[in-house]
Amino acid sequence: MQHFDFFVIGGGSGGIASARRAASYGVKVGLAECGRLGGTCVNVGCVPKKVMWNAASLASTLGQLHHYGFTSSMPFKFDWATLKANRDRYIKRLNSIYAKNLENSGIMLLTGYASVSQVDSKIINIKRPDESITSVSADHVLITSGSEPSKLNIPGEQHTINSDGFFALESKPTRAAVIGAGYIAVELAGVLNALGTDTSLFVRGERALRHFDEMISRELDFHMRHEGIKVQPKSIPEKITRSATTNLLSLHLKDGVTFSDFDCILVAIGRSPNVLNLGLESTQVEQKQVTNHIIVDQFQNTNHNNVYALGDVCGEVELTPMAIAAGRRLADRLFGNFKDIHVSYENVPTVIFSHPPIGTIGLKENEAINIYGEENIKIYNGTSVNLYYGPFDVPPEQKPKTKIKMICLLPEEKVIGLHIIGMGSDEMLQGFGVAIKMGATKSDFDHCVAIHPTASEEVVTLSPWGLAPESKCHS
Ligand code: NDP
Repeated sequence: MQHFDFFVIGGGSGGIASARRAASYGVKVGLAECGRLGGTCVNVGCVPKKVMWNAASLASTLGQLHHYGFTSSMPFKFDWATLKANRDRYIKRLNSIYAKNLENSGIMLLTGYASVSQVDSKIINIKRPDESITSVSADHVLITSGSEPSKLNIPGEQHTINSDGFFALESKPTRAAVIGAGYIAVELAGVLNALGTDTSLFVRGERALRHFDEMISRELDFHMRHEGIKVQPKSIPEKITRSATTNLLSLHLKDGVTFSDFDCILVAIGRSPNVLNLGLESTQVEQKQVTNHIIVDQFQNTNHNNVYALGDVCGEVELTPMAIAAGRRLADRLFGNFKDIHVSYENVPTVIFSHPPIGTIGLKENEAINIYGEENIKIYNGTSVNLYYGPFDVPPEQKPKTKIKMICLLPEEKVIGLHIIGMGSDEMLQGFGVAIKMGATKSDFDHCVAIHPTASEEVVTLSPWGLAPESKCHS
Protein backbone atom coordinates (compact mmCIF):
# COMPACT_ATOMS: atom_id res chain seq x y z
CA MET A 1 0.00 0.00 0.00
CA GLN A 2 1.33 3.42 -0.99
CA HIS A 3 1.86 5.73 1.97
CA PHE A 4 1.59 9.52 1.71
CA ASP A 5 2.47 12.31 4.10
CA PHE A 6 -0.60 14.20 2.89
CA PHE A 7 -3.59 12.87 0.98
CA VAL A 8 -6.26 15.18 -0.43
CA ILE A 9 -9.79 14.03 -1.23
CA GLY A 10 -11.07 16.36 -3.94
CA GLY A 11 -9.28 18.09 -6.80
CA GLY A 12 -11.05 21.44 -6.74
CA SER A 13 -9.39 24.81 -6.22
CA GLY A 14 -8.79 24.34 -2.47
CA GLY A 15 -7.60 20.74 -2.69
CA ILE A 16 -5.18 21.34 -5.54
CA ALA A 17 -3.79 24.50 -3.93
CA SER A 18 -3.21 22.71 -0.64
CA ALA A 19 -1.66 19.65 -2.31
CA ARG A 20 0.74 21.74 -4.38
CA ARG A 21 1.77 23.88 -1.45
CA ALA A 22 2.41 20.75 0.62
CA ALA A 23 4.46 19.23 -2.21
CA SER A 24 6.54 22.40 -2.36
CA TYR A 25 7.82 21.48 1.12
CA GLY A 26 9.10 18.16 -0.23
CA VAL A 27 6.50 15.89 1.35
CA LYS A 28 4.81 13.02 -0.48
CA VAL A 29 1.35 14.06 -1.63
CA GLY A 30 -1.53 12.16 -3.25
CA LEU A 31 -4.86 13.46 -4.48
CA ALA A 32 -8.07 11.71 -5.47
CA GLU A 33 -10.65 13.24 -7.79
CA CYS A 34 -13.63 11.51 -9.36
CA GLY A 35 -14.59 14.26 -11.79
CA ARG A 36 -12.79 16.88 -13.82
CA LEU A 37 -9.84 18.60 -12.20
CA GLY A 38 -10.52 22.12 -11.00
CA GLY A 39 -13.83 21.35 -9.29
CA THR A 40 -16.87 23.59 -9.42
CA CYS A 41 -15.01 26.85 -10.07
CA VAL A 42 -13.24 25.76 -13.21
CA ASN A 43 -15.83 23.42 -14.69
CA VAL A 44 -19.30 24.61 -13.72
CA GLY A 45 -18.75 27.78 -11.73
CA CYS A 46 -16.68 30.96 -11.68
CA VAL A 47 -14.75 30.42 -14.90
CA PRO A 48 -17.49 29.45 -17.40
CA LYS A 49 -19.81 31.90 -15.60
CA LYS A 50 -17.40 34.77 -16.19
CA VAL A 51 -17.21 33.81 -19.87
CA MET A 52 -21.00 33.99 -20.04
CA TRP A 53 -21.02 37.27 -18.12
CA ASN A 54 -18.52 38.68 -20.60
CA ALA A 55 -20.80 37.59 -23.45
CA ALA A 56 -23.75 39.23 -21.73
CA SER A 57 -21.76 42.42 -21.17
CA LEU A 58 -20.81 42.45 -24.86
CA ALA A 59 -24.47 42.06 -25.79
CA SER A 60 -25.31 45.11 -23.66
CA THR A 61 -22.46 47.08 -25.19
CA LEU A 62 -23.64 46.27 -28.71
CA GLY A 63 -26.98 47.85 -27.85
CA GLN A 64 -25.17 51.01 -26.75
CA LEU A 65 -22.78 51.46 -29.68
CA HIS A 66 -24.92 54.10 -31.38
CA HIS A 67 -24.39 56.49 -28.44
CA TYR A 68 -20.71 56.52 -29.40
CA GLY A 69 -21.39 57.11 -33.08
CA PHE A 70 -21.03 53.53 -34.31
CA THR A 71 -23.60 52.31 -36.76
CA SER A 72 -23.97 48.97 -38.43
CA SER A 73 -26.19 48.14 -41.35
CA MET A 74 -25.93 44.46 -40.40
CA PRO A 75 -27.47 43.42 -37.07
CA PHE A 76 -25.11 41.32 -34.96
CA LYS A 77 -26.06 37.69 -34.66
CA PHE A 78 -25.35 35.66 -31.57
CA ASP A 79 -24.67 31.93 -31.73
CA TRP A 80 -24.86 30.20 -28.35
CA ALA A 81 -23.31 27.00 -29.77
CA THR A 82 -20.17 28.85 -30.90
CA LEU A 83 -19.79 30.49 -27.51
CA LYS A 84 -20.29 27.16 -25.74
CA ALA A 85 -17.76 25.39 -27.96
CA ASN A 86 -15.16 28.11 -27.37
CA ARG A 87 -15.89 28.16 -23.65
CA ASP A 88 -15.68 24.35 -23.36
CA ARG A 89 -12.39 24.32 -25.25
CA TYR A 90 -10.96 26.86 -22.82
CA ILE A 91 -12.13 24.86 -19.80
CA LYS A 92 -10.63 21.68 -21.26
CA ARG A 93 -7.34 23.49 -21.59
CA LEU A 94 -7.55 24.55 -17.95
CA ASN A 95 -8.25 20.92 -16.93
CA SER A 96 -5.08 19.80 -18.65
CA ILE A 97 -3.08 22.66 -17.11
CA TYR A 98 -4.27 21.52 -13.67
CA ALA A 99 -3.21 17.93 -14.44
CA LYS A 100 0.19 19.15 -15.66
CA ASN A 101 0.62 21.28 -12.54
CA LEU A 102 -0.05 18.28 -10.31
CA GLU A 103 2.44 16.22 -12.30
CA ASN A 104 5.07 18.98 -12.18
CA SER A 105 4.61 19.22 -8.42
CA GLY A 106 5.21 15.48 -8.08
CA ILE A 107 1.68 14.82 -6.76
CA MET A 108 0.18 11.41 -7.47
CA LEU A 109 -3.30 11.79 -8.98
CA LEU A 110 -5.64 8.89 -8.34
CA THR A 111 -8.79 9.14 -10.42
CA GLY A 112 -11.79 7.80 -8.54
CA TYR A 113 -14.18 8.28 -5.63
CA ALA A 114 -12.33 8.35 -2.33
CA SER A 115 -13.62 7.41 1.08
CA VAL A 116 -12.06 6.99 4.47
CA SER A 117 -11.72 3.33 5.46
CA GLN A 118 -14.15 1.98 8.07
CA VAL A 119 -11.24 0.28 9.81
CA ASP A 120 -8.64 3.04 9.99
CA SER A 121 -9.12 6.67 9.02
CA LYS A 122 -5.50 6.80 7.87
CA ILE A 123 -6.46 4.46 5.05
CA ILE A 124 -8.29 5.87 2.05
CA ASN A 125 -10.06 3.66 -0.45
CA ILE A 126 -10.42 5.00 -3.97
CA LYS A 127 -13.04 3.43 -6.20
CA ARG A 128 -11.55 3.67 -9.68
CA PRO A 129 -13.49 4.15 -12.93
CA ASP A 130 -13.06 0.38 -13.64
CA GLU A 131 -14.70 -0.33 -10.22
CA SER A 132 -11.44 -1.62 -8.73
CA ILE A 133 -10.40 -0.27 -5.32
CA THR A 134 -7.00 1.29 -4.65
CA SER A 135 -6.16 1.68 -0.99
CA VAL A 136 -3.55 4.14 0.25
CA SER A 137 -2.54 5.39 3.66
CA ALA A 138 -1.58 8.86 4.82
CA ASP A 139 -0.40 10.70 7.92
CA HIS A 140 -2.65 13.66 7.16
CA VAL A 141 -5.95 13.58 5.26
CA LEU A 142 -7.63 16.67 3.85
CA ILE A 143 -11.27 16.57 2.74
CA THR A 144 -12.08 19.14 0.05
CA SER A 145 -14.89 17.33 -1.68
CA GLY A 146 -16.84 20.52 -2.44
CA SER A 147 -20.57 20.92 -2.87
CA GLU A 148 -23.40 20.38 -5.28
CA PRO A 149 -26.53 22.38 -6.10
CA SER A 150 -29.28 21.95 -3.49
CA LYS A 151 -32.64 20.57 -4.51
CA LEU A 152 -36.07 22.13 -4.12
CA ASN A 153 -37.61 18.73 -3.39
CA ILE A 154 -40.92 19.47 -5.09
CA PRO A 155 -42.86 17.37 -7.61
CA GLY A 156 -41.64 17.83 -11.18
CA GLU A 157 -38.13 18.90 -10.19
CA GLN A 158 -36.75 16.39 -12.69
CA HIS A 159 -37.82 18.85 -15.43
CA THR A 160 -35.52 21.56 -14.07
CA ILE A 161 -31.83 22.19 -14.49
CA ASN A 162 -29.31 23.56 -12.00
CA SER A 163 -26.14 25.58 -12.62
CA ASP A 164 -24.38 22.42 -13.88
CA GLY A 165 -27.20 22.03 -16.40
CA PHE A 166 -26.95 25.66 -17.42
CA PHE A 167 -23.38 25.12 -18.57
CA ALA A 168 -24.47 22.04 -20.52
CA LEU A 169 -27.19 23.90 -22.47
CA GLU A 170 -26.59 23.47 -26.19
CA SER A 171 -28.84 26.33 -27.20
CA LYS A 172 -30.21 29.52 -25.77
CA PRO A 173 -33.52 29.07 -23.95
CA THR A 174 -36.39 31.12 -25.34
CA ARG A 175 -38.26 31.63 -22.08
CA ALA A 176 -36.59 30.82 -18.78
CA ALA A 177 -37.61 30.79 -15.15
CA VAL A 178 -34.86 31.09 -12.58
CA ILE A 179 -35.75 30.04 -9.04
CA GLY A 180 -33.53 31.41 -6.26
CA ALA A 181 -32.31 34.65 -4.80
CA GLY A 182 -28.56 34.35 -4.30
CA TYR A 183 -25.36 34.72 -6.29
CA ILE A 184 -26.10 32.10 -8.92
CA ALA A 185 -29.74 33.01 -9.51
CA VAL A 186 -29.04 36.70 -10.13
CA GLU A 187 -25.89 36.04 -12.16
CA LEU A 188 -27.48 33.49 -14.48
CA ALA A 189 -30.76 35.40 -14.78
CA GLY A 190 -28.68 38.43 -15.81
CA VAL A 191 -26.77 36.44 -18.42
CA LEU A 192 -29.88 34.86 -19.92
CA ASN A 193 -31.71 38.18 -20.05
CA ALA A 194 -28.81 40.05 -21.65
CA LEU A 195 -28.39 37.34 -24.28
CA GLY A 196 -32.03 37.62 -25.28
CA THR A 197 -33.91 34.99 -23.28
CA ASP A 198 -37.26 36.10 -21.86
CA THR A 199 -36.27 35.70 -18.19
CA SER A 200 -38.30 35.57 -14.99
CA LEU A 201 -36.70 35.41 -11.56
CA PHE A 202 -38.74 33.81 -8.79
CA VAL A 203 -37.67 34.82 -5.28
CA ARG A 204 -39.21 33.75 -1.97
CA GLY A 205 -38.83 37.12 -0.29
CA GLU A 206 -39.43 40.68 -1.48
CA ARG A 207 -36.19 40.84 -3.44
CA ALA A 208 -33.13 38.86 -4.51
CA LEU A 209 -29.92 39.21 -2.47
CA ARG A 210 -31.93 40.12 0.62
CA HIS A 211 -29.11 38.72 2.76
CA PHE A 212 -26.82 41.48 1.46
CA ASP A 213 -26.90 45.15 2.50
CA GLU A 214 -30.37 46.53 1.80
CA MET A 215 -28.99 49.19 -0.56
CA ILE A 216 -27.48 46.46 -2.75
CA SER A 217 -30.61 44.38 -2.76
CA ARG A 218 -32.88 47.33 -3.62
CA GLU A 219 -30.60 48.72 -6.31
CA LEU A 220 -30.14 45.35 -7.98
CA ASP A 221 -33.89 44.83 -7.97
CA PHE A 222 -34.29 48.17 -9.75
CA HIS A 223 -31.60 47.38 -12.34
CA MET A 224 -32.88 43.86 -13.03
CA ARG A 225 -36.41 45.11 -13.64
CA HIS A 226 -35.10 47.99 -15.75
CA GLU A 227 -33.10 45.54 -17.87
CA GLY A 228 -36.23 43.47 -18.48
CA ILE A 229 -35.96 40.63 -15.97
CA LYS A 230 -39.41 39.81 -14.64
CA VAL A 231 -38.78 39.62 -10.91
CA GLN A 232 -41.56 37.69 -9.17
CA PRO A 233 -41.38 38.29 -5.40
CA LYS A 234 -42.99 36.15 -2.72
CA SER A 235 -42.92 33.14 -5.02
CA ILE A 236 -42.78 29.78 -3.30
CA PRO A 237 -42.57 26.94 -5.83
CA GLU A 238 -45.00 24.07 -5.26
CA LYS A 239 -44.61 21.89 -8.35
CA ILE A 240 -43.45 21.88 -11.94
CA THR A 241 -45.34 20.26 -14.77
CA ARG A 242 -44.60 19.63 -18.44
CA SER A 243 -47.30 20.04 -21.09
CA ALA A 244 -47.81 16.90 -23.14
CA THR A 245 -48.79 18.98 -26.18
CA THR A 246 -46.18 21.76 -26.20
CA ASN A 247 -43.49 20.08 -24.07
CA LEU A 248 -43.18 23.41 -22.26
CA LEU A 249 -42.93 23.75 -18.49
CA SER A 250 -45.21 25.40 -15.94
CA LEU A 251 -44.19 26.59 -12.50
CA HIS A 252 -46.98 26.35 -9.96
CA LEU A 253 -46.60 28.50 -6.86
CA LYS A 254 -47.94 27.81 -3.37
CA ASP A 255 -50.35 30.77 -3.62
CA GLY A 256 -52.11 29.09 -6.53
CA VAL A 257 -50.61 31.21 -9.31
CA THR A 258 -49.08 29.39 -12.29
CA PHE A 259 -46.48 30.68 -14.75
CA SER A 260 -46.33 28.74 -18.01
CA ASP A 261 -44.55 28.21 -21.32
CA PHE A 262 -40.96 27.96 -20.10
CA ASP A 263 -38.47 25.90 -22.07
CA CYS A 264 -36.04 26.12 -19.18
CA ILE A 265 -36.49 26.25 -15.41
CA LEU A 266 -33.25 26.74 -13.52
CA VAL A 267 -33.01 26.13 -9.78
CA ALA A 268 -30.26 27.96 -7.84
CA ILE A 269 -31.15 27.92 -4.15
CA GLY A 270 -27.79 27.26 -2.51
CA ARG A 271 -25.35 24.39 -2.43
CA SER A 272 -25.05 21.29 -0.24
CA PRO A 273 -21.77 19.67 0.86
CA ASN A 274 -20.51 16.56 -0.94
CA VAL A 275 -20.28 14.25 2.07
CA LEU A 276 -22.12 11.20 0.79
CA ASN A 277 -20.12 7.95 0.99
CA LEU A 278 -16.98 9.65 2.31
CA GLY A 279 -16.95 7.13 5.16
CA LEU A 280 -17.17 9.87 7.77
CA GLU A 281 -19.48 7.80 9.96
CA SER A 282 -16.52 5.62 10.93
CA THR A 283 -14.55 8.67 12.10
CA GLN A 284 -14.95 11.34 14.74
CA VAL A 285 -15.36 13.96 12.02
CA GLU A 286 -18.32 16.04 13.18
CA GLN A 287 -20.93 17.43 10.82
CA LYS A 288 -23.47 20.19 11.28
CA GLN A 289 -27.00 19.07 11.87
CA VAL A 290 -29.40 19.76 8.98
CA THR A 291 -26.77 20.98 6.47
CA ASN A 292 -24.20 18.16 6.99
CA HIS A 293 -21.30 20.59 6.56
CA ILE A 294 -18.07 19.32 8.15
CA ILE A 295 -17.25 21.21 11.34
CA VAL A 296 -13.71 22.57 11.58
CA ASP A 297 -11.87 24.99 13.82
CA GLN A 298 -9.96 28.04 12.59
CA PHE A 299 -7.02 25.76 11.65
CA GLN A 300 -9.26 23.59 9.44
CA ASN A 301 -8.95 20.74 11.98
CA THR A 302 -11.92 18.41 12.20
CA ASN A 303 -12.63 16.63 15.46
CA HIS A 304 -10.63 13.68 14.20
CA ASN A 305 -6.89 13.82 14.66
CA ASN A 306 -5.01 14.50 11.42
CA VAL A 307 -8.18 14.82 9.34
CA TYR A 308 -8.82 18.32 8.00
CA ALA A 309 -11.48 19.92 5.81
CA LEU A 310 -11.95 23.19 3.96
CA GLY A 311 -13.90 24.85 1.17
CA ASP A 312 -17.56 24.31 0.31
CA VAL A 313 -17.70 21.05 2.25
CA CYS A 314 -17.41 23.21 5.40
CA GLY A 315 -19.73 25.95 4.07
CA GLU A 316 -17.98 28.78 5.91
CA VAL A 317 -17.30 31.17 3.01
CA GLU A 318 -18.11 29.32 -0.22
CA LEU A 319 -15.65 31.17 -2.43
CA THR A 320 -12.79 29.71 -4.48
CA PRO A 321 -10.08 32.12 -3.29
CA MET A 322 -11.09 31.44 0.31
CA ALA A 323 -10.57 27.70 -0.20
CA ILE A 324 -7.25 28.29 -1.98
CA ALA A 325 -5.98 30.49 0.84
CA ALA A 326 -7.20 28.06 3.52
CA GLY A 327 -5.59 25.13 1.68
CA ARG A 328 -2.24 26.84 1.33
CA ARG A 329 -2.23 27.95 4.96
CA LEU A 330 -3.06 24.42 6.12
CA ALA A 331 -0.09 23.04 4.16
CA ASP A 332 2.12 25.83 5.55
CA ARG A 333 1.12 24.90 9.08
CA LEU A 334 1.51 21.14 8.63
CA PHE A 335 4.67 21.03 6.55
CA GLY A 336 6.20 24.52 6.46
CA ASN A 337 7.69 26.45 9.29
CA PHE A 338 4.50 28.35 10.09
CA LYS A 339 3.25 27.25 13.49
CA ASP A 340 -0.36 28.28 14.20
CA ILE A 341 -0.88 29.98 10.84
CA HIS A 342 -4.43 30.02 9.50
CA VAL A 343 -6.68 32.13 7.30
CA SER A 344 -9.12 34.75 8.47
CA TYR A 345 -12.71 34.37 7.39
CA GLU A 346 -13.43 38.02 8.18
CA ASN A 347 -13.60 40.90 5.74
CA VAL A 348 -13.61 38.68 2.69
CA PRO A 349 -14.30 40.77 -0.41
CA THR A 350 -16.76 39.27 -2.84
CA VAL A 351 -18.23 40.20 -6.20
CA ILE A 352 -21.57 39.24 -7.67
CA PHE A 353 -21.42 39.26 -11.45
CA SER A 354 -24.88 40.66 -11.91
CA HIS A 355 -25.73 43.42 -14.38
CA PRO A 356 -24.39 45.77 -13.10
CA PRO A 357 -21.84 43.98 -10.94
CA ILE A 358 -21.71 44.26 -7.17
CA GLY A 359 -18.66 44.44 -4.92
CA THR A 360 -19.04 44.04 -1.21
CA ILE A 361 -16.86 43.55 1.88
CA GLY A 362 -17.40 43.68 5.62
CA LEU A 363 -20.51 44.38 7.62
CA LYS A 364 -23.90 45.34 6.28
CA GLU A 365 -25.54 48.42 7.81
CA ASN A 366 -27.95 46.44 9.98
CA GLU A 367 -25.18 44.10 11.16
CA ALA A 368 -22.96 47.05 12.10
CA ILE A 369 -25.80 48.67 14.06
CA ASN A 370 -26.63 45.41 15.85
CA ILE A 371 -23.02 44.86 16.85
CA TYR A 372 -21.90 48.39 17.72
CA GLY A 373 -25.11 50.39 18.24
CA GLU A 374 -26.50 53.03 15.90
CA GLU A 375 -24.75 55.85 17.82
CA ASN A 376 -21.35 54.35 17.00
CA ILE A 377 -21.86 54.00 13.26
CA LYS A 378 -21.49 56.60 10.55
CA ILE A 379 -22.66 55.86 7.02
CA TYR A 380 -21.40 57.57 3.86
CA ASN A 381 -23.50 57.17 0.73
CA GLY A 382 -22.53 58.04 -2.81
CA THR A 383 -24.46 58.13 -6.07
CA SER A 384 -22.71 58.80 -9.35
CA VAL A 385 -23.02 58.20 -13.07
CA ASN A 386 -20.14 56.33 -14.67
CA LEU A 387 -18.56 58.59 -17.29
CA TYR A 388 -19.15 55.81 -19.82
CA TYR A 389 -22.80 56.87 -19.84
CA GLY A 390 -21.88 60.56 -20.22
CA PRO A 391 -22.44 60.86 -23.99
CA PHE A 392 -25.54 58.66 -23.98
CA ASP A 393 -28.37 60.44 -25.72
CA VAL A 394 -30.91 59.85 -22.94
CA PRO A 395 -32.26 62.11 -20.18
CA PRO A 396 -29.80 62.29 -17.24
CA GLU A 397 -32.22 60.58 -14.88
CA GLN A 398 -32.25 57.52 -17.15
CA LYS A 399 -28.49 57.00 -17.00
CA PRO A 400 -27.54 54.03 -14.80
CA LYS A 401 -26.25 55.04 -11.39
CA THR A 402 -23.41 53.64 -9.34
CA LYS A 403 -24.25 53.48 -5.63
CA ILE A 404 -21.72 53.25 -2.84
CA LYS A 405 -22.24 52.74 0.87
CA MET A 406 -19.33 53.04 3.28
CA ILE A 407 -19.97 51.97 6.86
CA CYS A 408 -17.65 53.47 9.49
CA LEU A 409 -17.11 52.80 13.17
CA LEU A 410 -16.85 55.89 15.37
CA PRO A 411 -14.93 57.64 16.79
CA GLU A 412 -12.02 57.10 14.37
CA GLU A 413 -14.34 56.19 11.46
CA LYS A 414 -12.70 52.88 10.72
CA VAL A 415 -14.23 51.43 7.56
CA ILE A 416 -16.01 48.22 8.54
CA GLY A 417 -18.18 47.79 5.46
CA LEU A 418 -18.09 48.84 1.82
CA HIS A 419 -20.84 48.03 -0.65
CA ILE A 420 -20.79 49.08 -4.29
CA ILE A 421 -23.14 48.39 -7.18
CA GLY A 422 -22.39 49.76 -10.61
CA MET A 423 -20.23 49.42 -13.67
CA GLY A 424 -16.67 48.42 -12.76
CA SER A 425 -17.33 47.61 -9.11
CA ASP A 426 -16.10 44.06 -9.77
CA GLU A 427 -12.59 45.33 -10.50
CA MET A 428 -12.71 48.09 -7.89
CA LEU A 429 -13.00 46.19 -4.70
CA GLN A 430 -9.76 44.21 -4.53
CA GLY A 431 -7.55 47.19 -3.71
CA PHE A 432 -10.04 48.73 -1.31
CA GLY A 433 -10.22 45.28 0.31
CA VAL A 434 -6.50 45.53 1.15
CA ALA A 435 -7.06 48.91 2.78
CA ILE A 436 -10.00 47.62 4.81
CA LYS A 437 -8.07 44.52 5.92
CA MET A 438 -5.35 46.92 7.14
CA GLY A 439 -7.90 48.85 9.20
CA ALA A 440 -8.21 51.96 7.02
CA THR A 441 -10.40 54.84 8.14
CA LYS A 442 -12.54 57.21 6.10
CA SER A 443 -9.75 59.74 6.50
CA ASP A 444 -7.25 57.24 4.99
CA PHE A 445 -9.56 56.77 2.02
CA ASP A 446 -9.83 60.57 1.61
CA HIS A 447 -6.07 60.98 1.79
CA CYS A 448 -5.59 58.77 -1.24
CA VAL A 449 -5.86 61.26 -4.09
CA ALA A 450 -8.52 60.33 -6.61
CA ILE A 451 -7.62 58.90 -10.01
CA HIS A 452 -9.65 60.83 -12.53
CA PRO A 453 -11.76 59.98 -14.42
CA THR A 454 -12.50 56.53 -13.02
CA ALA A 455 -15.38 54.88 -11.22
CA SER A 456 -13.10 54.11 -8.25
CA GLU A 457 -12.47 57.79 -7.49
CA GLU A 458 -16.01 58.01 -6.12
CA VAL A 459 -14.95 55.74 -3.25
CA VAL A 460 -12.16 58.08 -2.08
CA THR A 461 -14.24 61.25 -2.48
CA LEU A 462 -17.42 60.29 -0.64
CA SER A 463 -19.10 63.39 0.67
CA PRO A 464 -18.29 65.10 2.99
CA TRP A 465 -14.71 64.62 1.83
CA GLY A 466 -11.76 65.35 4.12
CA LEU A 467 -13.75 66.09 7.27
CA ALA A 468 -13.39 62.76 9.07
CA PRO A 469 -11.12 62.55 12.15
CA GLU A 470 -7.46 62.52 11.07
CA SER A 471 -5.88 59.09 10.97
CA LYS A 472 -2.32 58.65 12.25
CA CYS A 473 -0.94 56.71 9.33
CA HIS A 474 -0.93 59.35 6.58
CA SER A 475 2.25 60.09 4.74
P1 NDP B 1 -26.77 31.48 -2.22
O1 NDP B 1 -26.47 30.97 -0.89
O2 NDP B 1 -26.02 32.63 -2.75
O3 NDP B 1 -28.30 31.88 -2.33
C1 NDP B 1 -29.32 30.96 -2.29
C2 NDP B 1 -30.61 31.70 -1.99
O4 NDP B 1 -31.69 30.98 -2.54
C3 NDP B 1 -30.87 31.79 -0.51
O5 NDP B 1 -30.19 32.86 0.05
C4 NDP B 1 -32.38 31.93 -0.47
O6 NDP B 1 -32.71 33.32 -0.55
C5 NDP B 1 -32.84 31.22 -1.74
N1 NDP B 1 -33.46 29.94 -1.40
C6 NDP B 1 -33.00 29.01 -0.54
N2 NDP B 1 -33.84 27.97 -0.48
C7 NDP B 1 -34.86 28.26 -1.30
C8 NDP B 1 -36.03 27.58 -1.68
N3 NDP B 1 -36.34 26.38 -1.15
N4 NDP B 1 -36.87 28.15 -2.56
C9 NDP B 1 -36.58 29.35 -3.11
N5 NDP B 1 -35.46 30.05 -2.80
C10 NDP B 1 -34.62 29.50 -1.91
O7 NDP B 1 -26.66 30.20 -3.16
P2 NDP B 1 -26.26 30.04 -4.67
O8 NDP B 1 -26.76 28.70 -5.05
O9 NDP B 1 -26.68 31.19 -5.48
O10 NDP B 1 -24.68 30.03 -4.63
C11 NDP B 1 -23.99 29.12 -3.76
C12 NDP B 1 -22.72 29.73 -3.27
O11 NDP B 1 -21.76 29.74 -4.32
C13 NDP B 1 -22.85 31.19 -2.86
O12 NDP B 1 -23.23 31.32 -1.53
C14 NDP B 1 -21.48 31.74 -3.11
O13 NDP B 1 -20.72 31.60 -1.95
C15 NDP B 1 -20.92 30.87 -4.21
N6 NDP B 1 -20.93 31.61 -5.49
C16 NDP B 1 -20.11 32.69 -5.62
C17 NDP B 1 -20.09 33.41 -6.77
C18 NDP B 1 -19.21 34.61 -6.88
O14 NDP B 1 -18.26 34.72 -6.12
N7 NDP B 1 -19.50 35.53 -7.79
C19 NDP B 1 -20.94 33.05 -7.91
C20 NDP B 1 -21.78 31.93 -7.66
C21 NDP B 1 -21.76 31.24 -6.50
P3 NDP B 1 -34.00 33.85 0.23
O15 NDP B 1 -33.83 33.45 1.64
O16 NDP B 1 -33.96 35.33 0.02
O17 NDP B 1 -35.17 33.19 -0.42
